[in-house]
Amino acid sequence: MKHPSSRLVVLLGLTFVAGFDSIAPAAVQPDRPNILVIVSDDQGYADLGFQGCRDIPTPHLDRLAASGIRFSNGYVTHPFCSPSRAGLLTGRYQQRFGHEQNPFFDPNDHREGLPTTEKLLPEFLRDAGYVTGWIGKWHLGAAPEFWPQHRGFTETFGFLGGGHHYLNWKTNAAQEYNLPIERNGRPVAVTNHLTLAFGDEGAAFVRRHQTEPWFLYLAFNAPHTPAEPTPDRLAQFKSIADPKRRKYAAQVSLLDDAVGGVLAALRESGQDRRTLVFFFSDNGGPIMTNGWNGSSNLPLRGGKGEVYEGGIRVPFVMSWPGKLPAACGSDMTVSTLDVFPTALALAGVPLPTNRPPDGVNLLPYLTGAVTNAPNPQLFWRMGGGRQLAIRAGDSKLVRLRSQPDALFDLAGDLGETQDLAGRRTNEVRRLGAGLDGWNKTLVPPAFPGLAGHAANPKNSKQLVEP
Ligand code: CA
Repeated sequence: MKHPSSRLVVLLGLTFVAGFDSIAPAAVQPDRPNILVIVSDDQGYADLGFQGCRDIPTPHLDRLAASGIRFSNGYVTHPFCSPSRAGLLTGRYQQRFGHEQNPFFDPNDHREGLPTTEKLLPEFLRDAGYVTGWIGKWHLGAAPEFWPQHRGFTETFGFLGGGHHYLNWKTNAAQEYNLPIERNGRPVAVTNHLTLAFGDEGAAFVRRHQTEPWFLYLAFNAPHTPAEPTPDRLAQFKSIADPKRRKYAAQVSLLDDAVGGVLAALRESGQDRRTLVFFFSDNGGPIMTNGWNGSSNLPLRGGKGEVYEGGIRVPFVMSWPGKLPAACGSDMTVSTLDVFPTALALAGVPLPTNRPPDGVNLLPYLTGAVTNAPNPQLFWRMGGGRQLAIRAGDSKLVRLRSQPDALFDLAGDLGETQDLAGRRTNEVRRLGAGLDGWNKTLVPPAFPGLAGHAANPKNSKQLVEP
C-alpha cells in the first residue's frame, strides 16, 4: 500500500500553497473564488492530448491540464448522460432519489426529470451570493419545474433535451434534437456551430462577471452524436481513415476551441488565479457496434452504458493556478460527487445535513492538509440493478444480472481482463456485502425514462439516445 501522499505525482514545476488565505483583497474583486465546471459529452477516456491521444490535437484542454492536476482515477456516477449530470449537480448518488434513467423528453410529463425534492448546487451558491450560469445541454427534465432557471441558475443559455444538432437545424419545439436554443428562457437565433456558440457564450459570461463570485456549469453536448462538425474542421482530419473517427475528431477539436475561448477570457480578465476549474466527460465513449461515435476508451474495458471502467472512468482535471499543484498527475480516486462539497467549501456554505453529500471537499487532500484517501469506496448502479459495481481501493467488483460476481484488481489489470473472483472469495464476499449495503440505501427508479417509453411506437422518433 502506497503512502497516500505518494498519490500526487509531480511531473513539472510544483506550485503548492497549503492555505487559502493568500487571495489579495481588492475593492473590485469578489471575496470568494469562482467555480467553472466544464463537461464534455460521450468523450472517450483516450481522446485528449493529455490522455495520450495522437490523432486529435486538443491544445487548449492540454494547457488546462498542464495548469493543474490530471486525475487518472476520476469517475462519474453513471455510465450515461442524465443520471451522471444529476449526481454532479446534487452531490449525491442519483439513485437515492430515483434518477436512474435518461428522461423521456415531454414538456407535459411531470415525472421525467430531476426530482424537485432535490436542492441543486447552483441553488446553494445562488443563495450564498454567487452568479450562477448554465450553458449547453440540460437533459434533466423538460416540464417547466425542471428547467434550469427554476433549479438555481440565474443566467441560462442552451437546450433542454439530451442532444442537439450542431449545424443548420430547423427549430422545432416538439423535437428533442431541434429544440430552440434559449437565453434566459427566450429563443435566440444561433448561426454558428453550436459548440462554438456555447464557447462564445461562456467567454461572454466570464467577461461579464468580474466583480462578483460566479459558478458556471458549461455543459457541452459535444462530441455526442449527431456528428456534425464544420466542413473546414472536418477537412483538417482527412488523414484519419475511419469516417466516424474523422468526424468525431473534428467535433472534439471544435470543443477544444470552444473551451480555449473560455479559458482565454478567464486569463484576459485576470480571473484565472481566482477560479477553480473542473473538466471531465459525463460518461465514457460509446463503443457498441451500432452506437459507436468514433471514440476510444483504451486501455479501459467497455464504454457508455456499462459499469466497466470504460463507462465510468473519465478524463478528469482540476486547475486553480497558484492554489493547487500545477503540471502534475494524480492517481487519487476522485468523483464528480466531489464537485458539490468542494464548491460549497469555497463559497463558505455549510454542507446540508438533511441530504448529506456523498462526496468530499477535495481541496484539503490536494494541498496535503489531509493525507488519507478521499473516496475509499465508490459505487455504481444502472437500470435499477441490472448492473452494479463497487470500487474499494484498487479492487473492483462487477455484478451483472444473472451472472456471478466478477472481481478485478485495477492496480495490475486496468483493462479488467482477469476475473479474480474464484481466487479471492473472501474479498468477493466483503465487497459484495458493501455493495448490498449501499444498494439498500437507494430507491427504485422514480420515472420510466427513455427506455421505459420504448415500447410505445408513437415515441419511436424520440428514441435517439440510449
Ligand atoms: Ca453522455
